[in-house]
Amino acid sequence: MIYGIFSDVHSNLTALETVLLSMDSRGVEQRVSLGDVVGYGPDVNQCVSLVQREATVSLMGNHDSAAIGAESLRWFNSMAGEALRWTSGQLTAESRAYLASQLLVHSTGTCTCVHGTPVDPHLWNYLESSADAAKSAAVIDTALCAVGHTHRSVVYSVPTDEWPSRVEIPVSPLVLDLGALCRGGTKAVFCVGAVGQPRDYDNRACWCLLDTDRMTLEYVRVPYDVASVQARIVAAGLPACLAERLGNGS
Ligand code: ZN
Repeated sequence: MIYGIFSDVHSNLTALETVLLSMDSRGVEQRVSLGDVVGYGPDVNQCVSLVQREATVSLMGNHDSAAIGAESLRWFNSMAGEALRWTSGQLTAESRAYLASQLLVHSTGTCTCVHGTPVDPHLWNYLESSADAAKSAAVIDTALCAVGHTHRSVVYSVPTDEWPSRVEIPVSPLVLDLGALCRGGTKAVFCVGAVGQPRDYDNRACWCLLDTDRMTLEYVRVPYDVASVQARIVAAGLPACLAERLGNGS
């Protein structure tokens, strides 16, 4: 099966449409959203309905949860909180119901998918270190774990009897051989990057192609029209710094 795994769309329709076209061109059979469909960006209901139409599975993110009122805004910084109050006011009843229906965790059988980490997923912790990856690997019953939330693209390999290591994502080729990586019971925990707001100083939208037959993982980066989204952020009256950070991928 060829999965297109993506996360953190953050109401950025132009980036989402570009990523979906990229997935089509690569023969993706099932699309999995790891959450945060909304928050920060201008295209709230358009992104929810497109994810609803295109994703086989869509998981709950902390911004989705806060936008529907299931999470307190006090956990967010003032800029994120301001955008969430605006987002909440934009949501239609249909979008609200779809976001509320999203699950916290999903297993494809090979890969455990979650927004933050599989350890107490409702706490929205960030998977940011080898130690975090080891804790996550310990609670899953699959060889692979895909997470979003950090907006960065990183892979950790977690052997059964050694300290986990961070696998740098090669610039070329971009394809990781998971079969080789997962030999001897080693698990791979990977952060899939962000569609709508990358934070690894690369402003292109990011998604992951997981081929479970060939056991390969590829990080795909696609450029999109950032300026048009920046203009809509400003026109909506959202904080200007949200437009700026899209430009520099921070
Ligand atoms: Zn996010």
